[in-house]
Amino acid sequence: MVMLLRGISVSVGKVVGKAIVLQDMPEYSPEEKLQGDPEQAVRQMYGTVENLNDEMVLVSEKYAQAGKKVKAEMFRMQAVMLTDKIFTGSIEQNIRAGYSVPASVARASSEQQKALLSLNNPMLMERAQDLKDVSKRLIRRLTGYSDMDLSDLQEEAILVSDDLPPSVLINANDMVKGLIMAKGSQTSHVAILAANMGIPAVVGCGDVGGIKDGQTVFLNAVSGEIQSGLTEECIRKAMEECEKNREKCDLLNTLRGTVPATRDGTKINVFTNIIDASMTDKIIEYGADGVGLFRTEFLYMNRKTFPGEDEQFAIYQSVAKKLANRSVTIRTMDVGADKAADCLDLGHEANPALGYRAIRICIDRTEILKTQLCAALRAGASGNVKIMFPMIASVDELERALSVLEEAKRELRKRNLPFQEETPIGIMIETPSAAILAQKFIQKVDFFSIGSNDLTQYTLAADRLNGKVAYLYDHLNPAVLWLIQRTSDAVNGCNKTCSVCGEMARDPTALPILIGMGIKNISVNLPSVLLVKKLIGLLDRDLLSELAEKAVCLDTAAQVRDLVRSSLPDQYWDWCS
Ligand code: PEP
Ligand code: MG
Repeated sequence: MVMLLRGISVSVGKVVGKAIVLQDMPEYSPEEKLQGDPEQAVRQMYGTVENLNDEMVLVSEKYAQAGKKVKAEMFRMQAVMLTDKIFTGSIEQNIRAGYSVPASVARASSEQQKALLSLNNPMLMERAQDLKDVSKRLIRRLTGYSDMDLSDLQEEAILVSDDLPPSVLINANDMVKGLIMAKGSQTSHVAILAANMGIPAVVGCGDVGGIKDGQTVFLNAVSGEIQSGLTEECIRKAMEECEKNREKCDLLNTLRGTVPATRDGTKINVFTNIIDASMTDKIIEYGADGVGLFRTEFLYMNRKTFPGEDEQFAIYQSVAKKLANRSVTIRTMDVGADKAADCLDLGHEANPALGYRAIRICIDRTEILKTQLCAALRAGASGNVKIMFPMIASVDELERALSVLEEAKRELRKRNLPFQEETPIGIMIETPSAAILAQKFIQKVDFFSIGSNDLTQYTLAADRLNGKVAYLYDHLNPAVLWLIQRTSDAVNGCNKTCSVCGEMARDPTALPILIGMGIKNISVNLPSVLLVKKLIGLLDRDLLSELAEKAVCLDTAAQVRDLVRSSLPDQYWDWCS
């Protein structure tokens, strides 16, 4: 019987293949008693920790040299967790209390995971996952259990796992054609990695126990569906669907060198969202217009110290230099809420999404902002850099950020360092207050970029990470559209630019409305660039203004969806399924 599973698509694609169900190492009994000398056991533990740490640091450096920042940081952060004195001290204490070395690791790890989970913060929950991951590595080392190694897979496979550790996925070779996970969310590290590696992935399926090792499965990471228990006929149909998808991708690939424009000739700039320097070559290959959003907070994550000015400068400069004339919009650190950074001890807050985060931290701890601004301004001397402040909610806040910018410039002049005096400055429109006061804000900056992910969350008062209010969280809600229209109007009146860089920009239903509202710049993740270019070419801008006007006047997101669906030809939708 065909079994259907649904989850969250975090990296698009369609694939039929053999499932490899990754069995995790059995849980180590935390009650196992130590046989032998505790002193020797403690020495064995510290020795193994040291060797494993050396290896992980080496792997991290290898990835850093290859410009693979996410992978490098993950290994570095896990190495820091491994050698953390509180962690190793707790293992030692357990050994001295009479438990075996692996049991002591399991006990210490479980205690710390509990502490992290009790804080009820999604990012700390991810840290608990990392700790579990690194503890298992250590236990494997101690017990001689072989690592789950995906680097020498000989056959094409779709990985099926309850909760695959990122450090295992990182090593996967190109035989891995897909990933299905019971756990995970859009923001989990493993999801970010899968998208970075271009592996179609559906996570958060709830239970993958029904998929058997060696079974053929159809992973549709466009719709977020997985079929297993397929008949020959189903396999044939699924393969046809994959083939069609491949043909679509081949056709899309021919758009790499083209300039995206609507049928009536309006040029729409398509930029990319990045988290590190590793995608720079691909941006050029895909013919994107540059970087519309550099989420620099990833440079602050998983480390105990802040990235210094020179470290940041080297990263921003390398992107700006390679992209030459294409613009690179550097968003200042957007840490907080779901994005924790170990170097900033933010503590627990009742409502972190409404709390001390992003620009709020930066104008309080101005040395952090100044360092970053100095690095970005200096990078501007080698390319086309723009700077953007996130989460702006009030004009005072913007003015404080701008005064730190002036300070950074004064300091660079004093230090005699080359930088771009005329670096364009923008803000993200992510709060309803910023959208409402858009006309005032635009007088003080050069551009806006609409962060629809947060704008939707704050307009509808619905946590973007909370599945229970997902029914409410919808960027097509007319209230959100109204705020976007207001923002776009404020900019169009004064010859400045407005882009959209949230997930909404790659939603085929939202795209025609945005263009109809006068948006001419959008920024999406790299895998969506070509499809978005294609869709733009199928749109007629004159018809879209009317469509956008109608959409804003509707009552619900569902009505907006129906309107757009019925207003565009099948040819448009054929590209989206
Ligand atoms: C947004 O809020 O839409 C956005 C692009 O920022 P982030 O998703 O990083 O919060
Ligand atoms: Mg945001």
